[in-house]
Amino acid sequence: MSIPPSGPEITYAECRQCGTLIAGLDGRYSCGVCGWVNHHSEGHRELPRAEDDADHPAGGAEGNRLSADDNRLRGEGDS
Ligand SMILES: [Zn+2]
Repeated sequence: MSIPPSGPEITYAECRQCGTLIAGLDGRYSCGVCGWVNHHSEGHRELPRAEDDADHPAGGAEGNRLSADDNRLRGEGDS
C-alpha cells in the first residue's frame, strides 16, 4: 500500500466561471473573485474525515459544556 506525501498538494486552475487563475488544494478550488467552487469529488484525494483530525474532540463534550454555561449565564441575568 502506497503512502501519499504528507499534507495537501497545491494545484492551480482557471476558474470555470470567470477565468481567473486560482490556487487550490488537491484539485479542489474556490474562486475568491466570483465565488465559484468545484465539487469536492473532483479532488485528487479522499477528503480526511473529522475522526482523522488529531484535534477532533471525542464525543462533542466541549459543545455540551458551552451550552450549559450559556444557560447558567442567562439564568443569572434574569433575576
Ligand atoms: Zn471566478
